[in-house]
Amino acid sequence: MRVLVTGGAGFIGSAVIRHLIDSTVTEVANLDKLTYAGNLESLASVATSSRYRFYQVDICDSIALDMVFREFQPTAVMHLAAESHVDRSIDGPSDFIQTNIVGTYSLLEATRRYWSDLPATEKSAFRFHHISTDEVYGDLEGTDDLFTETTPYAPSSPYSASKASSDHLVRAWQRTYGLPVLVTNCSNNYGPYHFPEKLVPHVILNALASKPLPVYGDGSQIRDWLYVEDHARALVEVVTNGIVGETYNIGGHNEKRNLEVVEAICELLDELAPLEADREQASSYKELITFVKDRPGHDRRYAIDASKIERELGWLPQETFETGLRKTVQWYLDNRQWWQRVLSGDYRLGRLGSDH
Ligand code: NAD
Repeated sequence: MRVLVTGGAGFIGSAVIRHLIDSTVTEVANLDKLTYAGNLESLASVATSSRYRFYQVDICDSIALDMVFREFQPTAVMHLAAESHVDRSIDGPSDFIQTNIVGTYSLLEATRRYWSDLPATEKSAFRFHHISTDEVYGDLEGTDDLFTETTPYAPSSPYSASKASSDHLVRAWQRTYGLPVLVTNCSNNYGPYHFPEKLVPHVILNALASKPLPVYGDGSQIRDWLYVEDHARALVEVVTNGIVGETYNIGGHNEKRNLEVVEAICELLDELAPLEADREQASSYKELITFVKDRPGHDRRYAIDASKIERELGWLPQETFETGLRKTVQWYLDNRQWWQRVLSGDYRLGRLGSDH
């Protein structure tokens, strides 16, 4: 396979590329604009592979997209490029509309131009895999309900509405033009190389700096957590063996209240990086937990029914929440340079016109 990964310098995209280079023989092109969320240092372990190349391109730039398709000649596209942070979408939705909706449209059109001219066998073997979120389904009322692939869409935030929109565009491009698409909707990811604005790394890094650990509202919002490398394996399974036109929900069977997640991180840090005994200081990181005003429109509960991908493609998560979270906390303790360069902004040095 020759896979064009969009958003490959992001959290999940970089995990997908590391997996493709380390565990398969796939040729990979990473197409990324390098917004604040893109970090090529997350790809340091694979950057020198002869099977890896990078294009700094905006998915809204049709001319540059055509050039990449002509040059790289992919057999599949895995589309992860997006604005992904819900709080930023509330503060300023514009970039979300532009990248997630208009950008997905430009990418679909560039893909269609390239795919239409392929010889018949390559055309039918081609795949466009759109990576989406469980947030498109809105929130769940009942405590036992789960999102399935047929749950109606009811997005709540500008982020989830823009992702829902892009899902609809992708499905329309199959129905109207016959483009061979696959869609996956995944729950909350966590793991190494996660940008510090997201809950898990934010809590780890604030705790290590003895700063308050902010929890929205009463912390009772429930999310279903999946270790990022389990997600990357699922995505590669879907693009390789998924059935065209199908949607697969991906989740970790790990429903946790936000407060439970924060407390679990504190307990791991108490064990792995204990606070120094000092009467002035807290004795457990839990003492840093601070409740803050809830996010507007905050969904109460998300939970994924991942039985279809398990049954049809044989995928199962390898990490439980406990093993994955321990690995994650340990990774942040062992890779201080990666996150210190993110916090200082040094990870952006040497980029071409990527300011955002
Ligand atoms: P991320 O914010 O870490 O990375 C996004 C990447 O896209 C960055 O490298 C950024 O530079 C790039 N990008 C942004 N705008 C671009 C543009 N216009 N052109 C080209 N590149 C651009 O996001 P993530 O957490 O890795 O999420 C990846 C995908 O997975 C997103 O589509 C997201 O909606 C979806 N998803 C994320 C989660 C999660 O928990 N993080 C869960 C389910 C689905």
